[in-house]
Amino acid sequence: MANALSTLETTEAGALKIVSVPCLKDNFAYLVRDESNGNVAVVDAPESEAIEAALQALGWTLTHIFITHHHNDHIDGVERLRSLGNISVIGSAADATRLPILTQAVMPGESFRWGGIEVDVFDTPGHTVGHIVYHMPEPGVLFSGDTLFAMGCGRLFEGTAQQMWGGLSALAALPDETVVFFGHEYTATNADFALTVDPNNAALHDRVREVIATLQAGGRTTPTTIGLEKATNPFLRAVSEDVAREVGLPDADPEIVFAEVRRRKDNS
Ligand SMILES: [Zn+2]
Repeated sequence: MANALSTLETTEAGALKIVSVPCLKDNFAYLVRDESNGNVAVVDAPESEAIEAALQALGWTLTHIFITHHHNDHIDGVERLRSLGNISVIGSAADATRLPILTQAVMPGESFRWGGIEVDVFDTPGHTVGHIVYHMPEPGVLFSGDTLFAMGCGRLFEGTAQQMWGGLSALAALPDETVVFFGHEYTATNADFALTVDPNNAALHDRVREVIATLQAGGRTTPTTIGLEKATNPFLRAVSEDVAREVGLPDADPEIVFAEVRRRKDNS
């Protein structure tokens, strides 16, 4: 039991305790416990085994499942987990036909209450057209799924660069201190790529050094913050002159620069 617990990294934010659970090859699920009422959610369910083991180690009882998008590596554990008890499954009403059966379909752009906590549902099409992310303004946390990663963003499997940029811009407008829990440990390759389009960014170099040390020590790079991503994520840095110039598009709109950075990452 002690061993299982020692692999669980916990972040505290207000009444919430948030634990990252590595799943499959490089996915993260997040267990979120509201200490004020005992609600326990998992954000995305790549598989049930690792999540069940973490619940057991923590002594937590699952009450809710939040889904960001329909890809198998985010929903494959849902059916098994929902069989553990009376569990609410929350996902986008707009993409419900591709998701496991929802007990609470939420509208992108709207808000709902999870116990006492307000949850804003951001519409972030691009990676998939129905992708949503969950923002809890109080205490200031964001579950960004496959939209925003540490120094990266999701591939455009279904939506356009324009759509993805719209969603990312909305996330970039959140307070800098917002703590961001993302869907994949892609940070090492994201860091390598970031240096190619933003080579003169001192904050990026500092962060890459830190990330390499963390990963070499067997640690995880989640969570990040909006402020750190604005300073070092080459996709959010599409607003900077440095990145625009580096990709040969000085004076272009950020949306155009973003599309070019995304294209280069796809070909890298
Ligand atoms: Zn995905």
